[in-house]
Amino acid sequence: MKNNGFLSHADSASLNKNLIINYIKSKGIVSQTQIWEDVNLSRASVSQIIKQLTEMDLIKVAGIGESKGGRRRLALTLNYDSKQLIIYDWMTKQLCVTNLNGVVISAEPFGFDSGTSPEQFCQILYQKTEILLKKINVDSSQIFAMGLVFPGLVDTIGGKVLYSLEMNWNDAEIFDMTQKMFRFPVYIDRTANMILLGEYSRLQDSSIRNALLILSDNTRLGSALLQDGKIIHGGNNMNGELGHIRVADSPVCNCGKKGCLEAKVIEILSHGYDTASLSLAVEYIGIAISTAVNIFDPCLILLYGDIFEKLSDRLLSRLNSYIFDNIVNSDSRNLKITYSFLGRSASITGMCENIFRKSFPIV
Ligand SMILES: [Zn+2]
Repeated sequence: MKNNGFLSHADSASLNKNLIINYIKSKGIVSQTQIWEDVNLSRASVSQIIKQLTEMDLIKVAGIGESKGGRRRLALTLNYDSKQLIIYDWMTKQLCVTNLNGVVISAEPFGFDSGTSPEQFCQILYQKTEILLKKINVDSSQIFAMGLVFPGLVDTIGGKVLYSLEMNWNDAEIFDMTQKMFRFPVYIDRTANMILLGEYSRLQDSSIRNALLILSDNTRLGSALLQDGKIIHGGNNMNGELGHIRVADSPVCNCGKKGCLEAKVIEILSHGYDTASLSLAVEYIGIAISTAVNIFDPCLILLYGDIFEKLSDRLLSRLNSYIFDNIVNSDSRNLKITYSFLGRSASITGMCENIFRKSFPIV
């Protein structure tokens, strides 16, 4: 984009191409005629873009039908298998090669302890990537992009892990380090964001455009927010710190303060996940979630992680009650509360969706 905010000729050509890629993605399979009809571009422009995308191997013919006039009607679809992505996911401790749509082609375990520096991590990442690509006989020139999913606070624009208690990293310049090693672009984002984006990308209900993820990983609590179909990172990349809202007296939290939800829940569950302890934890978590609902008004709450996996049906129902009893206008809200349905693959799916959106932006 030019400094004056107007699109250059090259920008608008790129935007039109991305609009058509995203349109085909949203439809699954679509005829060229339907693209002409639905996309506000000339037939010549659409034909030219389709030709370019076919040459780039990004779309392919899914079938040939016949239109009303007896002419051949090509059905087009995205060729997700034409490019590969490499995804590292800290939470599931694996390095994967996937197609453009998040289907895992091959995966290797890749965990590291909290004493591993960012520099050491990048060196190991490089070595493991080489081994993985060799194993599946893929040359690195075929890799479209890499995505790295980390816990903690992540600056997605600057490509830094700002702070991560889990990895003991501060201001880790991961983007700069990895860009010196790999010839393809590298994207970095936060675990909760990628789980939510992954789940959202697979939702069957297109009316849901606002969602909230509540993540419990090893009793640590966090959240992620999606509004109008987009992940909200916040002004300081610090959105989603649900675990640090004030609920009651508690031991000193990992953040150094007292009274945090996360510290309270850890204290409650310190002797185990018995029904009485879980019931009390659910009360605190439910009130915290209701606060978030009152502020952000999601239509979907996704529950993900260890505490929620341990809830009986009765306790899940109790959690629902705590949430609905503490939000305003609960009767007239369109709000569903459900478990994650992608499970352990959600963050990998989310990073693949993130790379697709960043590679073919339409805004
Ligand atoms: Zn705290």
